Amino acid sequence: KKIVIAIDGFSSTGKSTIAKKLAKALNYIYVDTGAMYRAVTYFALNSGCIKDGLLDSKRLINALPKIHIEFKYNELLGFAEVYLNGANIEEQIRTLEVSQYVSPVATLSQVRKKLVQQQQLMGEHKGIVMDGRDIGTVVFPDAELKIFMTASSETRATRRYKELLERGQNLSYEEVLENVTTRDHIDSTRKDSPLIKADGAIEIDNSNLTIEEQLQTILALAKS
Ligand code: C5P
Repeated sequence: KKIVIAIDGFSSTGKSTIAKKLAKALNYIYVDTGAMYRAVTYFALNSGCIKDGLLDSKRLINALPKIHIEFKYNELLGFAEVYLNGANIEEQIRTLEVSQYVSPVATLSQVRKKLVQQQQLMGEHKGIVMDGRDIGTVVFPDAELKIFMTASSETRATRRYKELLERGQNLSYEEVLENVTTRDHIDSTRKDSPLIKADGAIEIDNSNLTIEEQLQTILALAKS
């Protein structure tokens, strides 16, 4: 029987790495909800809704009907890439600039409402792995399997730092650590849908687990 797997957790806990592999192993669809919040943020940066470092919430909320987000499967990559108004922005949303504004954007209830609705529609297709911050609590509170991923902030910043280096972004480790901890703080203290462990979620601290170990653990849970 195909199920819904909800994976939540703090920034850079390796949720998407595991979610992609899980989806592949189970022949499920994978949805990266962080990419959707990043897409809205990218739009905000390019439409004057974020100017001189300031987010104009009202302007962004008014512009929401003009934001169309889709996922299209890329055979070569083996996962679905995110598109904003028809343009592939998978690479553009992974910059530190987008990472710095995404959590403030994600505090806006109107933004969350729009994206949660779209995510719930995608969930009508059973056989889905979705990762984010509020999947087990808000998007799919009835998900058959909920995972809450954790890892030490140093482990997480090191992972993110390496990933950004591989993408050719020249940043210091301190900048990356600062971004990860700031986002965690905003995400877990916001009023609307704060990041918390969902009822019934299984916590996995992966600081000292290999990707294969995590994958096997979750696959066993999915099949039980
Ligand atoms: O998963 P990722 O790190 O790409 O998410 C970027 C940001 O988007 C998070 O730090 C959080 O502010 C926001 N987000 C959210 N709810 C989700 C997924 C992401 O608020 N379901």
